[in-house]
Formats: sequence, structure tokens, C-alpha cells
Amino acid sequence: MASIFTRIIQGEIPCHKVAEDDRYFAFLDINPLREGHTLVVPKLEVDVFFDLPPDQLAGIMLFAQEVARKIRKVVPCDRVGVCVIGLEVPHAHVHLIPIDRMSDMDFARPKLKLSAEELAAIADRIRNA
Ligand code: 5GP
Repeated sequence: MASIFTRIIQGEIPCHKVAEDDRYFAFLDINPLREGHTLVVPKLEVDVFFDLPPDQLAGIMLFAQEVARKIRKVVPCDRVGVCVIGLEVPHAHVHLIPIDRMSDMDFARPKLKLSAEELAAIADRIRNA
């Protein structure tokens, strides 16, 4: 069965898209740690991040770099943190999180509750940065 992220990429499940090319797709995390928390996903469905083929692995970081630069332009933050977890969704992905302090990347903290309108507005700002 297709992963939830493949279903998002295929447009079966809605998301707040930030960027896309032929190999990668970026969209806002539905339960963000910070405003602008973005997931970057390869269209190739592979569970474990470090099982991605080398060219896909290198490519996702270059794609994430472009997205991170856009996030930093429009979301006030010191920098954009990067992490890979993958315990919840078995489709490789990178988290990009605007941060000012270490605790901004603490996944044990309560997530923000943003409305669909707020998420849409943030995605729009990042897309157009
Ligand atoms: P991980 O697999 O890295 O542990 O966490 C998966 C992340 O994907 C979580 O931060 C979670 O909020 C996010 N997520 C899970 N399902 C969806 C979804 O259907 N839409 C979006 N936009 N994000 C999701």
C-alpha cells in the first residue's frame, strides 16, 4: 500500500505544498513544532532515509537547501534546523524546522495548533519567497 506521503504527493490527500520538482516534494508538517516546519520527501518511496540510493540521498539535501533558504527568508528565526526521524511515517523524509534555540527541535514538546488558513498562508509565503 502507498505510504501517506505518496498519497499526499499524488494529490490524494491534501497538504500545504511548498515546493516540488521531478524527484522531491516539500510540504508543511501538519503538527508543526514551529511555524514553517516543513517536510522534504523523495517521490521514490523508500522507508529508511539512509537506504535511499546515493544520488537520491545527495539530491534531497540539495533540494532541502533551496527550501530552507526560502523558509529563512520569510519565517523569523536564527536558522533552519535539519533532522531525520522517520519513526511515524515509513517514507524517508527530512524535517526542516525554523529554530532559535535547541529546544525548538524537541519533538517531545507540544506541537503548535495552526488552522488550515494559517498553514496555507505560511506555505504561500515560503513558496513565493
Ligand atoms: P517522523 O516519521 O519523522 O517521526 O514524523 C512524521 C511527521 O510527519 C510528523 O511530524 C507528523 O506531524 C507529520 N505527518 C504525519 N502525517 C501527516 C500528514 O498526513 N500530513 C502532514 N502534512 N504531515 C504529516
